[in-house]
Amino acid sequence: MIDWKTVPKTELHLHIEGAAPPDFIRMLAAEKNIDLSGSFKDDGSYVWTDFAEFLQTYERACSVLQTPDDFRRLTEAVLDVSAANGVIYTEMFLSPDFCGGGDLGAWKEYLAAMTLGAKNSKTKHGIETRFIATCIRHFGPDNAEKTAEIVAKTAGGLLTGFGQGGEERHLSAGHFARAFKIAGDAGLGLTSHAGEILGSDSVRETLDAFDVTRIGHGVRAIEDPSLVERLAAEGIVLEVCPGSNIALDVFSKWKDHPIARLRDAGVKVTVSTDDPPYFYTDMTREYRKLHETFGWSLEDFQDMNKTAMLAAFCDDDTRQRMLAKFE
Ligand SMILES: [Zn+2]
Repeated sequence: MIDWKTVPKTELHLHIEGAAPPDFIRMLAAEKNIDLSGSFKDDGSYVWTDFAEFLQTYERACSVLQTPDDFRRLTEAVLDVSAANGVIYTEMFLSPDFCGGGDLGAWKEYLAAMTLGAKNSKTKHGIETRFIATCIRHFGPDNAEKTAEIVAKTAGGLLTGFGQGGEERHLSAGHFARAFKIAGDAGLGLTSHAGEILGSDSVRETLDAFDVTRIGHGVRAIEDPSLVERLAAEGIVLEVCPGSNIALDVFSKWKDHPIARLRDAGVKVTVSTDDPPYFYTDMTREYRKLHETFGWSLEDFQDMNKTAMLAAFCDDDTRQRMLAKFE
């Protein structure tokens, strides 16, 4: 029997606020006298039954995250969970809009605090972290460009990527091309959410509009065989979050999830958890489920982790050091 918890793992797609452990959010709420009653089940996990309630609980939980030091502590709490699940390299999405309201000076303070948190976690667990700053699609193209400029000015250190989250249905990818150009010119790695809520066209549009090497989710590419071929030919890496997709009913069952079919078609797939406590999952559960559903072996996961490290937004020394751990 393989102990999936201790198998070394990489994770490329994790939203820092969405990864907040419920215990940590309750502790912070108690310190600040913020009432979060109704946000948790009896077992302490986040409560939601439909997408509207999911967003409501998410926003209430985020309301306790107010200062740079709250985010430093959040970073450490999230990385404690990652490390406990065998993750040795992780990339986390941060949002300058939620960390300082898009102000450069404030963002610098938040970024410094989260960098300190990641360094503390590295000392404690050995876990390596990089940050991907995201613009929020439904805040519009002007805001995205402003965010990209702030991110470009603070690129370097642990901040190595730029991405886009938010409502996929808001405008087409082309409207955000300039934001991605600004970030790309600053040397940041590029990724964007697509093909989760919307179908294969959103993945195609994203590839046409941005110079991305990775797509967040991208799984609905499976609906279009020619797009699957393109993803494979161009070596685009998908940050696949199966448990998230199933929790949000993008696919109803694990056996219906296209990750294995995409992989068999030559698409580079990796595995992440997105907003794990909201989807009642963690990296150990994702590996176990993939093993049970598709029969993936330890070797399959080693291969996938190498794919992830080759696509990681990190310096070459770190990449080589991490790759060696998957040999
Ligand atoms: Zn995501």
